Amino acid sequence: MELLETKTRVELTWRPRRLRAGAAIRDLVRETRLTPAQLVAPLFVVSGRGRRQPIPSLAGHDRLSSDLALEKARTLASLGVGGLLLFGIPEHKDPIGEGAADPSGPVPETLRALAGEGLPLVLIADVCTCEYTDHGHCGPLEVLPDGRQDVDNDRALEVLAAAAVAYAEAGADVVAPSAMMDGQVAAIRSALDASGHQRTAIMAYASKHASFLYGPFRDAAGSAPAFGDRRSYQMDPANGREALREMELDAAEGADLLMVKPAITSLDLLARARERFDLPLAAYQVSGEYAMIQAAAERGWMDRQGAALETLTAIARAGAGVLITYFAEEAARWLAEEGA
Ligand SMILES: [Zn+2]
Repeated sequence: MELLETKTRVELTWRPRRLRAGAAIRDLVRETRLTPAQLVAPLFVVSGRGRRQPIPSLAGHDRLSSDLALEKARTLASLGVGGLLLFGIPEHKDPIGEGAADPSGPVPETLRALAGEGLPLVLIADVCTCEYTDHGHCGPLEVLPDGRQDVDNDRALEVLAAAAVAYAEAGADVVAPSAMMDGQVAAIRSALDASGHQRTAIMAYASKHASFLYGPFRDAAGSAPAFGDRRSYQMDPANGREALREMELDAAEGADLLMVKPAITSLDLLARARERFDLPLAAYQVSGEYAMIQAAAERGWMDRQGAALETLTAIARAGAGVLITYFAEEAARWLAEEGA
């Protein structure tokens, strides 16, 4: 009995529960803290005025015309949210996706409205063509020798570069190429520089897995592929070393920020990338991640706020400094309440 007591005393020299004893000490030693400034809110924009189209698979989110997007941006700015990530939903689609580079399209229109306002928000424009092509793929198609169709990488680069220039012209602080075409960051950097937009930054969707978690987004953006899937350009979710090579390439091509997507399935990549690269790291908590929490909360199976903040904290803990999330507005409110 005496021996057991001695042993117990030795083993418990460090009692981790001391630092969990109350809210104040837990708060004091917390390793990862979220701030509204690191949050980026995705926003789907359409042409016209006064248009608000609810997105059924993304509860609480709507497609907005530029005037209503401006209202939303004012709210986000007042909450201290760091930035906006814009996706355009065009009126017309074509095989090339040329609408992505149309200066009168919904994204440039919204950027001009927002840029004129001078809000303390980083304006980020997603650069891809899948919302603008009639087949829903991320670039123009080519027919391969075996008769299959696939995205023509180098023709896609031309459209992506033109779109990035149009968004920079309209006031984007950052362009974010998401097509997963080889060489897209280099093509966009040189097009931006050649058109006098040296100051426009690039956030590369560097590691983008072909994921089932994008389902609700495709509904929101009307960008589901009409045939096949995106596995010939987005990465196999099984591959982590390849993800790091993609990041290395994008960094070498001139990316200013590196992003991984989806977030919750890429925590290992964030941790490895944080050790390996000195660029800011962003993670996109994608539509399916939002929808899983939302759906469980609606059924009363999970606490919505708790699950949202816990997952965002884990993504930050893994290494992401910038958090793109459909919870951005609410999370900023929750964080303000916690801090109050
Ligand atoms: Zn795309």
